[in-house]
Amino acid sequence: MNIARVIVDVPSFQTNRPFDYRIPDRYEGVIQPGMRVIVPFGPRKILGYVVGLTDETDLNRLKPVEELLDLQPVLTTELLGLGDWMAEQTLSFRISALQVMLPQVLKAKYKKEVWRNEGEDLPEQFERLFAGRDGIDFTEFERSGISYHQLQKLVQDGSIEIEYIVKSKESKKTTPMIQPAKSPIELEEALVDLTKSAHKQRDLIEHFISEPEPVPKKLLVESFQTTASTIKTLMDKGLLEQFNQEIYRDPYKNRSFERTEAFELTEEQEEAIAPILDVLEKKQHEVMLLHGVTGSGKTEVYLQSIQQVIDQGMEAIMLVPEIALTPMMVERFKGRFGSRVAVLHSALSAGEKYDEWRRIQRGEVQVVVGARSAIFAPFTKLGIIIIDEEHETSYKQEENPRYHARDVAVYRGEQHHCPVILGSATPSLETFARAKKGNYRMLSLTKRMNEASMPEVELIDMREELHAGNRSMFSRVLKEKIEDRLAKKEQVVLFLNRRGYSTFVMCRDCGFVIECPHCDITMTYHRKQESLKCHYCSHEVSMPSECPECESDSIRYFGTGTQKVEEVLQQLLPEARVVRMDVDTTRRKGAHEKLLGEFGRGEADILLGTQMIAKGLDFQNVTLVGVMTADSLLNIPDFRSAEKTFQLLTQVSGRAGRHTKPGEVIVQTYTPEHYSIELASTYDYHQFFNQEMQLRKAFRYPPYYFITLVTVSHPNQLKVQEVTQKIVAFMRSKLSEESVTLGPTPSALTRIKNRYRYQCMIKYKHEPEQRKLLKRILQYYEDELKQDQLQISIDFQPYQLM
Ligand code: ADP
Ligand code: ZN
Ligand code: ZN
Repeated sequence: MNIARVIVDVPSFQTNRPFDYRIPDRYEGVIQPGMRVIVPFGPRKILGYVVGLTDETDLNRLKPVEELLDLQPVLTTELLGLGDWMAEQTLSFRISALQVMLPQVLKAKYKKEVWRNEGEDLPEQFERLFAGRDGIDFTEFERSGISYHQLQKLVQDGSIEIEYIVKSKESKKTTPMIQPAKSPIELEEALVDLTKSAHKQRDLIEHFISEPEPVPKKLLVESFQTTASTIKTLMDKGLLEQFNQEIYRDPYKNRSFERTEAFELTEEQEEAIAPILDVLEKKQHEVMLLHGVTGSGKTEVYLQSIQQVIDQGMEAIMLVPEIALTPMMVERFKGRFGSRVAVLHSALSAGEKYDEWRRIQRGEVQVVVGARSAIFAPFTKLGIIIIDEEHETSYKQEENPRYHARDVAVYRGEQHHCPVILGSATPSLETFARAKKGNYRMLSLTKRMNEASMPEVELIDMREELHAGNRSMFSRVLKEKIEDRLAKKEQVVLFLNRRGYSTFVMCRDCGFVIECPHCDITMTYHRKQESLKCHYCSHEVSMPSECPECESDSIRYFGTGTQKVEEVLQQLLPEARVVRMDVDTTRRKGAHEKLLGEFGRGEADILLGTQMIAKGLDFQNVTLVGVMTADSLLNIPDFRSAEKTFQLLTQVSGRAGRHTKPGEVIVQTYTPEHYSIELASTYDYHQFFNQEMQLRKAFRYPPYYFITLVTVSHPNQLKVQEVTQKIVAFMRSKLSEESVTLGPTPSALTRIKNRYRYQCMIKYKHEPEQRKLLKRILQYYEDELKQDQLQISIDFQPYQLM
């Protein structure tokens, strides 16, 4: 096989296929699928990924592969297949699908070095090449005339490593280590030959006689009060030797983790884990939903399932939402599995992520805990994939390739014949519906640990506050309860929906909100035209001057930011110490941890924040949680708004009273009678599911229908309208009767960064030709997409509908 099939790093339709390159003699038998190469492409030399090898080509003259970047594949065969599938599913370029699976560092070419590993004998010619050094520049190897094949063999046995030199800060760090070069008996003999005055040498040799393990040179110098020259003398005598050991930039290196033991499972946990262990035993693929209220011991079930996977010599992927990747969560996994765990989250630098990835690739860890992209961990013996908080929308990538980690998990689970466990207290409707139908196996945990109950939720009707003359955004009850906690030196969490979404109009007297009669979503206020529009179907009404329900004139635009709440809070309770957490206060790296740290140490009384404080927090002293306005969650123009409200309220409530002190939750709302708010206050997921499903069916939304969202944007509004109109007309003419194509409609966020945004929404049950049709659209506009400012994004199963 002397031809490599290469996907090149040029994202375009013409180049969205493998190109053939001749493999030059020096790389013959060395190049494998999954390796990166540099190839000539037009006048340039670019990066590409080898996806296959062949002997046959239609071309008569092939250009040669210019350079091979890896001696070991960076993508496994399974991941190459996943890349194809993902490109197909998300309508992305194959190059984008391959690159999304790799750490940033591997998306470019870096200088390489060749390092020998400690204690390995190398063939003569390599000994000559290294000439006493531990590492050399790759170019030196290339000039040596030694074959790539020989180098590759040594890389495969682990006696040599290739290192990518990723700029000074990001590059691999090594530390010099000292170890004995002779056996203890030989060292004893050497002791005899030492002169009496050589105390320092004696100390060192004695140390290595009793403890032959390698020691970092620096530590040796410090703890033996010795010098580098003493060590050098012993090395010259052939008694000690030095090598470089890679130190991983472990972000948790400064913390020690207390080892934890598995709990004896409760009866309920036993029942839930039994089918998982059974499937693991049989090495079968199956998707299971672990539906359990917060604090019911789901994580313990995950931990013990993973233990079984490790015991079988296999590997586990554990996904948690980015926001839940708090030290607390990491601690539980590190505490149970120690150094067998790699952690991947966005706060790591590119170099740190690369380090963690390499530990996975080398098989040094068996467990990965990480956010969305950890689903691509290059394991080859996957035994289980677990997705905690499976309903979280952060599992969907919002840029190309727009994959959902849940779908990738199921794909990989099928390939590896292993189970996929989806866990949540409030599963997505899609998942729960599948579990109810029996497509997924349903496992339930209904009780909290230690008979603890969920905190009591009190709904406060803000309309009544207004009628009683209280115009503040704090109800009287909430204010009193906060004062009470301040007096008791207990802590409070106040939750506000993220700002910028205040696109709706509500009557403050009766809570009435105008909804689209066709789509069951809140209509979006357009200031310029003084009108309300449905951004799914374009239905439009003019802005009323009084409430259509109660004729009050208090109908207006709604919404407040966290900053505003903080100001009001400071006026209301000047003695309270407030920590505010929102996008503005957490922009800097580490700010998130810093603020939470302050609150955790009791340096503040109130934590005020957006979504980002809803999850994973676990503070002993929090006994009150307040939700400022549940309505601003409920009235985002999204068919999932009720589901999101239910999930968020449940999650926020879970922040209170997690320990010995009982907790209380206050939810302020103008619509306490709304089923999602009412049922969240009694934690009744099943009832919520039933009610919400009826609406989904009536208005043709998932899980009854699939949705595809096409969003067009351009600085020129007419252009956007025209293109969207064409797309709508084209799709309408091609799709079946059963499907509904809505649009062109201005998106709820109609203008972002001076670009107008319009959309077309397709609701369908079965449209096998859909991807082909949409691809034709992209191809038709390809030149404009490249040269003009036109953008068309296609999102299958979208979660962001703004
Ligand atoms: P969830 O993941 O469902 O929120 P956790 O697994 O975090 O629940 O469990 C809640 C608490 O109960 C944790 O502090 C955990 O250590 C503890 N716990 C879990 N399982 C057991 C058990 N079988 N026996 C005793 N304590 C347990
Ligand atoms: Zn009204
Ligand atoms: Zn509508």
